[in-house]
Amino acid sequence: MSEALLHIKGLKVRYGAIEAVKGIDLQVQAGERVTLIGANGAGKTSTLKALAGLLPAAAGEIRFGGRSIAGAAAHRLPGQGMALVPEGRGIFTRMSVLENLQAGAYLRRDREQVASEMDGLFDHFPRLRERLAQPAGLLSGGEQQMLALARALLSRPRLLVLDEPSMGLAPLMVEKIFEVIDRVCQAGMTLLLVEQNARLALQVTDRAYVMDSGRITLSGPSAQLLDDAQIRAAYLGE
Ligand code: ATP
Repeated sequence: MSEALLHIKGLKVRYGAIEAVKGIDLQVQAGERVTLIGANGAGKTSTLKALAGLLPAAAGEIRFGGRSIAGAAAHRLPGQGMALVPEGRGIFTRMSVLENLQAGAYLRRDREQVASEMDGLFDHFPRLRERLAQPAGLLSGGEQQMLALARALLSRPRLLVLDEPSMGLAPLMVEKIFEVIDRVCQAGMTLLLVEQNARLALQVTDRAYVMDSGRITLSGPSAQLLDDAQIRAAYLGE
């Protein structure tokens, strides 16, 4: 079998004396949708930060597209084909919605194709079209999440990485965002999704890793985990 698109082995992340990630292995194959679930403080965000080059890995290996990216700076990621939508979304609040979207496509030369993809995205996110000229900071939390997702998609990533897209959003908005994530994935996007809303995360993905206190404690097909009594009790509030 060829190497996974994303291949993490023995990853450790430390904050001083605190070991937040204690040597995890995680893989995402091209075309696969994978979620990393777990309670508050399990180490999910720390894992993504190491993956994105926002934190140094204390140990381990991170390979993307067959190349080591441990230690690669965050600004290099788009060029390598990884788009990260961080917790808190990271949109440029003073720039307009349109400028934010253009920023997502800044490495692309195929302007006409970008324009047509943007048009396609507006079918998913009509609110963004209505607000193109407005400063992005005036959008609601849910609309900002949509903008962040649309901007990431316009970079045409080989891997889309989402950190807690449901965070702080009203249930209806969460449902909408996940509808779009699901549609994007059906169209073939490779996804790594970090979520506290385990039920939703398991519903839109193929495979899942459960993280607890810095370790992967369980992994398997998402459908299987959705049915697992232990998971249901610990993470699905049953
Ligand atoms: P959440 O869902 O709440 O974001 P998480 O699974 O993403 O949780 P992390 O944010 O990765 O968890 O945190 C893992 C552990 O590392 C926690 O114990 C947290 O307190 C600790 N931690 C995170 N950031 C720092 C920091 N900057 N300095 C010290 N400790 C930190």
